[in-house]
Parts: sequence; C-alpha cells; structure tokens
Amino acid sequence: RAKQKSRGTISLYQPEMDQQIRDRRVLHQDLSMAVKNGELSLAFQPQGAAGHSVAESEIIGFEALARWQHPVRGQVSPAEFIPIAEESGLIVEMGEWILREACREAASWPKPLQVAVNLSPAQFMHGDVVGLVHSILIETGLAPGRLELEITEGVLIEDFDRGLALLRRLKALGVRISMDDFGSGYSSLSYLQAFPFDKIKIDRAFIINLGRNPQSAAIVRAVIDLGHGLEMSIIAEGVETVDQLAFLANEGCDGVQGYLLGKPLPIGKYAGLVGRAEAMELALKTG
Ligand code: C2E
Ligand code: MG
Ligand code: MG
Ligand code: MG
Repeated sequence: RAKQKSRGTISLYQPEMDQQIRDRRVLHQDLSMAVKNGELSLAFQPQGAAGHSVAESEIIGFEALARWQHPVRGQVSPAEFIPIAEESGLIVEMGEWILREACREAASWPKPLQVAVNLSPAQFMHGDVVGLVHSILIETGLAPGRLELEITEGVLIEDFDRGLALLRRLKALGVRISMDDFGSGYSSLSYLQAFPFDKIKIDRAFIINLGRNPQSAAIVRAVIDLGHGLEMSIIAEGVETVDQLAFLANEGCDGVQGYLLGKPLPIGKYAGLVGRAEAMELALKTG
C-alpha cells in the first residue's frame, strides 16, 4: 500500500522534477560559457549611513551583485544561477571574475567608497580565497580597507577551524568581513562570538515586518545592541520605506541598504555618487 502511495506521489511529481533537472542541466551548460561570452556583469547597490531621511543617509559604499544576461532567457537571477555555479564548481572561475571586476571598478572611483562582494560557500571553503583576494588587491590597486567580503553563517558550519583561520588571514590582509543575511539561518549567536566579523547585515525578512509586527522591531533592536556590544557595525538590508529608515536611525543602526536608497544598477547610473564628474556631465549633455 505504501509502495502504491509513493509510486503515485512519484508519478505526480516526476515530470516536473525531470523538467527542473533538464532546466538546470541546460542552464549549467550555458553558464559555463557565460563568463567567456561576456554575459556576466555587476550591478551596484548603494549602502548609506542610517540617517533620518534619504537626504541624510550619506552613501558610504556599494554592494556588487552578479547579473547574468542569458542570450535567450534574458536576465537570470543570481538566486538561480549562483547555486548552479556552486554545485558544478564553475563558481571558482566566476567568483574570481566577480571579485576582480568589483575591485577594478571600485579602484576607478574618484571617491574612496567601499565595495562589498559576496563570497559563496564553495569559493570560501574550497578555493584559495586568501591568495585570490591578495593578488586581486595588488593587481587592481584597491586599498584593502575599501573591500568588504560578505559571507553567510552557513559557510562556516562546514568546518569551524578552517573557517576561523580563513577569516583571520583575510582580516590580516586589511579587508573587512560582514555576516550576510543575519537571522535567516541557525546558530547565529555562537557564530557572532566565535568569528571576528566587522559587520552584521540584518536580513531583509526582519526589515519587511518592522511596521507590521512588534516582534520584528524587538529583534532588530536587540541585534543592533548585541552587535554594538561585540564592537561590530550593523547594516539593515531591504530598507524600502522612510518609516523603516527612521526607525533604524532612531535605534542607532549604522547603515542601510535597500530600494529606498537605490536598486542594484549598472554603476553608470550612480556615476554622480561615485564622483565621476565626466560621466555626470555627459549625462547632463545627452540626457
Ligand atoms: P544578498 O547578498 O543578500 O543580496 C541582497 C539581495 O536583496 C539582492 O538580490 C538585492 O537585489 C535584494 N534587495 C536589495 N534591496 C532590496 C529591497 O529593498 N527590497 C527587495 N525586495 N530586495 C532587495 P539579488 O541581486 O537577486 O541577489 C540575491 C542573492 O544572490 C544575494 O543575496 C547573494 O546571496 C547572491 N549573489 C548575488 N550576487 C552574487 C555574487 O556576485 N556572488 C555570490 N557568491 N553570490 C551572489
Ligand atoms: Mg550580500
Ligand atoms: Mg544579504
Ligand atoms: Mg539576502
């Protein structure tokens, strides 16, 4: 009977799963060509100091976010293609391209703004991430203090000792490390104590609910206090409204990132913010 039931379940789900596996396989093949074919690019999303209004939230840096323009499908979300790149090992080549491109771009800004780059688990735990960061900093001439590396707590679960050693070596290069999506995973508190993060990024899920439920407000408040107690700075992700911004500024949150300050866009759209006068003039003339 159980067999029949499970067979029934399988026959219901199989076509869909087959399709998913086929999709992934095709995407994987296409992705392996994407870097060489120049289909990858970076979008940059501004990060500001938390002020009581947008005008008071001075831009302090940008997060670089990968974009893939598929020749047939159009834009594919990194939430879809980064995991595929991870499983297949493509992430090593891709991650190197992303890091180099982000550092090269930031090094060309007249203002010494920060740039944050996401490191995926495989890139962090299996590649020579320290050697890579070191050589790209030298190659691009970016001051190490302007680079921030974002990792999620899940990355460190795999191998605590190795994770800790890597973080220390990276910090010794002079770069900063932030914990991305804080609160979305497990074992957060012990990780904060054990690992030398410079910054905590509060997951968007808590920010969305700020005005809606008092629990989220309590958690955000507590994370800000906790982070400050550990001498870490706090940035909130996914800030979309002025009310959220004002709440965060009131609570002493250090930074904000989200559609309210700006969406992830090609850096040209933010030429004024990074201080490229030529680009601004061009935009004024042509636009
Ligand atoms: P993440 O690092 O947490 O990046 C923030 C995501 O939230 C971005 O999605 C961004 O577009 C989105 N976001 C920012 N502000 C708002 C907001 O106000 N409202 C809403 N609704 N969304 C907002 P994106 O670009 O699709 O990236 C998704 C995830 O993919 C990233 O999450 C990161 O985990 C991964 N990813 C993106 N680029 C890279 C990369 O270059 N390398 C690696 N390893 N992972 C990447
Ligand atoms: Mg991130
Ligand atoms: Mg995040
Ligand atoms: Mg996130």
